[in-house]
Amino acid sequence: MPEAAHGHCFTRDWTCVACPAGTPWPCEPSKADLRIRLDAVDLREYLFACWRRAVVDLGVFADPARGNLYVRFVGWTEH
Ligand SMILES: [Zn+2]
Repeated sequence: MPEAAHGHCFTRDWTCVACPAGTPWPCEPSKADLRIRLDAVDLREYLFACWRRAVVDLGVFADPARGNLYVRFVGWTEH
């Protein structure tokens, strides 16, 4: 059985299915994977879409331990 990909695999609560339970998505492996598969514009667009859905799913004031959702989902694409 092939190893589960991190890139597009997340659960309803936005944790990665390939990482240890509870790891927030996008995890580091998924970021690396997405960077390879998408160019800068598509990457940002995709993560932006994810962020908008995550805000609905998790709430704007999601678990403070996870930090700002925008930074988590989109911020890292700016570097
Ligand atoms: Zn992962």
